[in-house]
Amino acid sequence: MTGKPLLDDCFLHDKDRLRHDEALSILKERLQSIAKTETVRLEDAGERILATAVTAPRNIPLADNSAVDGYAFRNSDFEEAGGFFRLEQRIAAGHASNADLGPWAAARIFTGAVMPPGADTVAMQEDCEPHQQDGQDFVIVPQGLKTGANCRKAGEDVAEGTTLLSPGQRLRPQDVAAIASTGLADVSVYRKLRVALVSTGDELRRPGDLITLGDVYDSNHFLLRGLCATLPVEIDDLGILKDDADTLEETLAKAAASHDVILTTGGASRGEEDHMLAVLDKIGTRHMWQLAIKPGRPMMFGNIGSCVVLGLPGNPVAAMVCFLLYARPVFSLLGGGAFLEPQAFEVPAAFDVPKKKPDRREFYRAFLQPRPDGSMAAHKFQRDGSGLITGLREADGLVEIPEDVTSIRKGDMVSFLPFSGFGLR
Ligand code: AMP
Ligand code: MG
Repeated sequence: MTGKPLLDDCFLHDKDRLRHDEALSILKERLQSIAKTETVRLEDAGERILATAVTAPRNIPLADNSAVDGYAFRNSDFEEAGGFFRLEQRIAAGHASNADLGPWAAARIFTGAVMPPGADTVAMQEDCEPHQQDGQDFVIVPQGLKTGANCRKAGEDVAEGTTLLSPGQRLRPQDVAAIASTGLADVSVYRKLRVALVSTGDELRRPGDLITLGDVYDSNHFLLRGLCATLPVEIDDLGILKDDADTLEETLAKAAASHDVILTTGGASRGEEDHMLAVLDKIGTRHMWQLAIKPGRPMMFGNIGSCVVLGLPGNPVAAMVCFLLYARPVFSLLGGGAFLEPQAFEVPAAFDVPKKKPDRREFYRAFLQPRPDGSMAAHKFQRDGSGLITGLREADGLVEIPEDVTSIRKGDMVSFLPFSGFGLR
């Protein structure tokens, strides 16, 4: 475990709080996959994490076949035939021919149809001229085709015995297509994690309910539900909990016994109405709290028995940033996949930050826009408030500013983390 895992003084200076990279190390050190496996039909395999390698039981494609509609012939016959071939077979896709192609003969063939024995080259129908003479069909084939032209070889996509996919990979549509092309109808994947989703706060109401002054609709529930949709998790909605230590304790203790992860928002700071910390410390173990990041300082990680507890801050912006940075990789890792690192690329800043606090890492809501020369620059959402969902909507990623940077000027290169790299749009 790294230097300072358990910080519980809210008057600490950032330099004494856990740094972002320390928080990541703690998560990686403390956690490993807990997922069991199950077999699912390919129809249900999308986005799941593969548990067993997929190996091609046979060549794909199975046999040499035509890549076009045209005429199959033996290229070594071309000169003697003078490009003038007797037509002797017709082969459509799904109707293989066993008959050898005779000398100077061509077969009418269609895309995907198996090459007749003896043929090695296909001329496209657009380049050929059918011809009749004495009641016999012929075809004139153009000059210059290389042996093997317009012909797909058996196993050219995947050779028999090749490992197509390895355990831990998340199955994208093209991966599921590749499994289907091997003929396998089902596949072994990791079971989805059972995640209890909890919102905390006396002020929270669910959409559809009436609100009065001071109430707030529970937008985080829907934010987190959506963010989880890109991950192998099954959500159990435990609703909204009041800011009451006993209720929180009772609910979390019960949830821990029947879930892999409890994901909470709110109540994670050290206010008198914040009870997450005390409850986690009482019935579980805390491994991290108080990070030197903005937004997201109260981010919490611990366990209650074998159940992992991730306590996100209540402010929607902080909740989303912390989910993407910490909860998303944790869910992937626990669920049999990799600890997902964000994608990042360098872009020039289109904004100034005259004074940034040292010793903490900051994440700005940002969007890319082209400059006059066509290259992209990162714009920062102007308002800072951690409760502004508008900024999350307008952004198409985050700009990440490291601890040691204390100012940014237009044109400085900054690290941009696109939402698409987190599996979002
Ligand atoms: P807390 O972390 O509980 O101190 O909450 C910080 C801020 O986030 C407060 O303004 C809360 O009203 C707001 N907040 C907390 N939970 C939610 C939620 N589920 N949806 C929307 N806002 C929330
Ligand atoms: Mg609260």
